[in-house]
Amino acid sequence: MRRAPKTALVFGIGGQDGAWLAKFLLKRGYVVHGTSRDREASSFANLKRLGLFEQARLHSAVLSDFRSVVQVIGDVRPDEIYNLAGQSSVGLSFEQPVETLNSIILGTVNILEAIRFLGLAARFYNASSSECFGNTGHLPADEGRAFHPRSPYGVGKAAAYWAIANYRESYNLFACSGILFNHESELRPARYVTQKIVRGAADIAEGKTDVLRLGELSISRDWGWAPEYVDAMWRMLNHDTPEDFVIATGQAYPLEAFVHAAFDYFGLNWRQHVESDAALLRPSDIAVSVGDPGKAKRQLNWEAETKMPGVVAKLLDAETRRRRAAQA
Ligand code: NDP
Repeated sequence: MRRAPKTALVFGIGGQDGAWLAKFLLKRGYVVHGTSRDREASSFANLKRLGLFEQARLHSAVLSDFRSVVQVIGDVRPDEIYNLAGQSSVGLSFEQPVETLNSIILGTVNILEAIRFLGLAARFYNASSSECFGNTGHLPADEGRAFHPRSPYGVGKAAAYWAIANYRESYNLFACSGILFNHESELRPARYVTQKIVRGAADIAEGKTDVLRLGELSISRDWGWAPEYVDAMWRMLNHDTPEDFVIATGQAYPLEAFVHAAFDYFGLNWRQHVESDAALLRPSDIAVSVGDPGKAKRQLNWEAETKMPGVVAKLLDAETRRRRAAQA
């Protein structure tokens, strides 16, 4: 007898990770449901870009509103729930701290409570972040490293992490936090620094502008490739036991090296085009952020294939294709 396909519910399916995860799950035969705060108003541009818009079943749900969360979970009754929604910009979290904390903390607790309330056996993945650790220094952070968040976003993610751990211990839920380090793709919105660099270098190469203004260039980050990271999320929910995992490449590169690689792609010297702009500096920033993905390798057999130079090349290939298609 054939087994019924599994059903997944992805909160925030219209975001970068939501769209890649939908692609990953559909390929594995899942019935994929997803939410946006307003299904009618959302463009679902990422799903359309990946050619998935017709395949995902879309709902409206606002994470901070318990009624809407319990309604959609009760209607779908999923086997797996992925929470990838919420205010996700560290920079914006300094300007919208209450909205950031509400969407992240309340959103996570509302999903946990809805699972309990409905008595579901659903497995739950929650998007945590390297921002919980704050500055890691050059010793890669593993799951045992103490948290010291440096932004309202990081504070929210740290609180949500502990909510997941508490509900797992108290109520025996299959709930996990993926402590993901930065991961990129062409689906990232333009406000993120990696997209600013990629689009800025391409504009300069096309002669549209001559200068790219950036904030702090000395920071170092651990950059991976988003489609690989959604595979790790799925592995966490299909592991024997609910546990938290650091997902990272294990390698930190200065932002300056990212900029260098992007300009190099077009044969440009970044020093002739990049200016530092004090207005783009954050109230507090993290000097170095690097993760130790050893536990994910040992227990999930997951490893990042694409490291920073590969990430830059893939982003620029995609940007170049997008520009050619727009001109055609
Ligand atoms: P995106 O910003 O691309 O997607 C998040 C989605 O959440 C949006 O598409 C939006 O959907 C919804 N959203 C945005 N603002 C709010 C808000 N104030 N309240 C409720 N919902 C909101 O994020 P990513 O896909 O890049 O990331 C997915 C998750 O992983 C996020 O929780 C992020 O914080 C976390 N994360 C991401 C990392 C990365 O490098 N990408 C690293 C570590 C963690 P809609 O408008 O349709 O409602």
